[in-house]
Amino acid sequence: MNETDAPGGAALRARAEIDLAAVRANVRTLRQRAPGTALMAVVKADGYGHGAAPCARAAVEAGATWLGTATPQEALALRAPGSGVPAGVRIMCWLWTPGGPWREAIEADLDVSLGGRWALDEVTRAARLAGRPARVQLKADTGLGRGGCQPGDDWTELVAAALRAEAEGLLRVTGLWSHFACADEPGHPSIAAQLTRFREMVAYAEAQGVRPEVRHIANSPATLTLPESHFDLVRPGIAMYGISPSPEIGTSADFGLRPAMTLSASLALVKHVPGGHGVSYGHHYVTPGATTLGLVPLGYADGVPRHASSAGPVLVEGKWRTVAGRVAMDQFVVDLGGDEPEPGAEAVLFGPGERGEPTAEDWAQAAGTIAYEIVTRIGARVPRVYVNEGSGR
Ligand SMILES: *Cc1c(COP(=O)(O)O)cnc(C)c1O
Repeated sequence: MNETDAPGGAALRARAEIDLAAVRANVRTLRQRAPGTALMAVVKADGYGHGAAPCARAAVEAGATWLGTATPQEALALRAPGSGVPAGVRIMCWLWTPGGPWREAIEADLDVSLGGRWALDEVTRAARLAGRPARVQLKADTGLGRGGCQPGDDWTELVAAALRAEAEGLLRVTGLWSHFACADEPGHPSIAAQLTRFREMVAYAEAQGVRPEVRHIANSPATLTLPESHFDLVRPGIAMYGISPSPEIGTSADFGLRPAMTLSASLALVKHVPGGHGVSYGHHYVTPGATTLGLVPLGYADGVPRHASSAGPVLVEGKWRTVAGRVAMDQFVVDLGGDEPEPGAEAVLFGPGERGEPTAEDWAQAAGTIAYEIVTRIGARVPRVYVNEGSGR
């Protein structure tokens, strides 16, 4: 770590400030949306770029009793002593490939998702070796067409095999679950179809003798807009970081959510250039007249999307500026229109929007993507600076 990137130092090249009070408030707001239901805070992909362990701790402080990750490695990291996640918190992970690590997951008391027979065979073998039962959740594909077990014979067989293994003491079926395809499009016919199929698949498993602790299907948009999908537990991800799952269903503010991440950088240079001057690779921007340019020391290696070239908004000294020309690997330029901020002046790419800065949603629109991708791709070279740590508001 070099001098300028020293966390807590006065001069950071760039920083992603994470407001943990916002994460806690968002989790409380989501719990109010789903009263009487457990909340699994989804902290996969390093907490959508916000930092998995600090966000997991904040979510637990605000009442989350479960944590969810994609990979087993992400889940195991949350069980490591340094994570600060209390031991009693349930942790589930769902993206498994042959080879495990099943035994480590069993020994770490993780809930593992099984979406097919191969996974059940591997986890039971690991449970024999570990000498203790695995906690497994059976994943139903109710229509997403991605992971999980198809309805019909596949489900019948998986349920039967799980019950046999449960009778042998090799596992305990702790959950039945699924995932939506179009929960961010209220009224989409697939929503009702998936709910019907989920109820059928759950009813079948329960009729065969499965006694799950939790049944769940709701991601952020379903948590926010579909109370009939809440069952025993909701699994919000993007909303706990304060971002609306889709601008079509409402803004963060509409849902009482506050974006937790503010991405900013210190201008590395401010200089005068004449009109007609090409800017950045390919000269896709040419200064319309004499002006000043500011150099922002963040690029696509830091997760600033190259697709936002000539489009991404940045707040500098109270004014919105636009990326001038291409985003490069480590830097991009903004046309400051003759203004002369000092080198080191703050350039805010996005934040909650409360100081007039753009939001991750603005960047998503500029880059033709979704805000999930904007925050999740912020790179490891950008230090995360945590504010409002601790359990106060
Ligand atoms: C990512 C994910 C979630 C959270 O989705 P959001 O839309 O971010 O709320 C929930 N469940 C599963 C299985 C996921 O992969």
